[in-house]
Amino acid sequence: MRMLVTGGAGFIGSQFVRDLLGGGCAGFEDVRVTVLDSLTYAGNLANLAAVADHPGFAFVRGDIADDAAVAAVMPGVDVVVNFAAETHVDRSIQDPEAFLRSNVLGVQRLLDAARSAHVTTFLQVSTDEVYGSIAAGSWPETDPLLPNSPYAAAKAGADLLCRSYHRTYGMDVRVTRCSNNYGPYQHREKVIPLFVSNLLAGRPVPLYGDGRNVRDWLHVADHCRGIRTVLRKGAPGEIYNIGGGTELTNRELTGLLLAACDADWSLVEHVTDRLGHDLRYSVDISKIQSLGYEPRVDFVAGLADTVRWYRDNAAWGRD
Ligand code: NAD
Repeated sequence: MRMLVTGGAGFIGSQFVRDLLGGGCAGFEDVRVTVLDSLTYAGNLANLAAVADHPGFAFVRGDIADDAAVAAVMPGVDVVVNFAAETHVDRSIQDPEAFLRSNVLGVQRLLDAARSAHVTTFLQVSTDEVYGSIAAGSWPETDPLLPNSPYAAAKAGADLLCRSYHRTYGMDVRVTRCSNNYGPYQHREKVIPLFVSNLLAGRPVPLYGDGRNVRDWLHVADHCRGIRTVLRKGAPGEIYNIGGGTELTNRELTGLLLAACDADWSLVEHVTDRLGHDLRYSVDISKIQSLGYEPRVDFVAGLADTVRWYRDNAAWGRD
């Protein structure tokens, strides 16, 4: 199987590639992977160092919104998994245009190239943020898309494009919508790496508003296993939520990170809330559970490992 992994130099895409080429992923024993990544500020080739010499690995620097770059890598590809996106909500509030270019136009270019090259399966990695915010209960995949940030709106646009390419052209397009990921190799602008890096250095951390926003946390390796489950057992045109079942307020998460870093609340600075900040995300994962998927990484153990990784890799991502 030849797989094109776009955005594979980022946090989740690189975990997906390291896991695939590290062996032991049922159904992917013969996989060969090409990563296409434009190496934005968020992409880091060091994330792929572990597989750089693997005979089944190739890296191409290129933009998914660039027709020529996409057309050059597509021939012979069986499966596309698209992680490439602008991903930081705060940046989308400052500069939405970059998000539309990569997260919508880029997906259209990838879909067109995949169609021309007769790619068998296209998997779009999406997010639970497309649903908006939910006060109680959890979203099934059939709930309406009510995105609240430019980031989420752009991702929702891509989800709808994927649906249209399935309905119009009969392409095998699948979409996964995952909750918040944590783990190693995540850019230090995101909450867990930012807080851990700052706390370990004795610097303050910014907590938005009153910290009561709720997020569902899933270890990045569990997200990647969910994507493999959808590739192996999912159906064309279907959408699958992926989630962890560990819901925490940002205040609770902050408390856990303070404890893990031997710090206290004196280092927490309450900052003005993010514009349009969603109160709570929660996905109903019964559809992917029916494919035999369950998250495996225990949150307490996974968080402790993650904190240890940032402590042991203090130089990572700072070059
Ligand atoms: P990330 O920001 O760490 O990595 C994104 C990668 O995409 C980087 O390597 C970057 O260089 C690359 N990229 C960006 N624009 C590109 C373009 N136009 N062409 C080629 N490459 C480009 O992001 P991440 O956290 O690994 O997220 C990966 C995907 O998973 C995204 O689509 C995101 O929406 C989705 N997602 C993330 C989370 C999360 O908690 N991080 C949760 C659910 C879904």
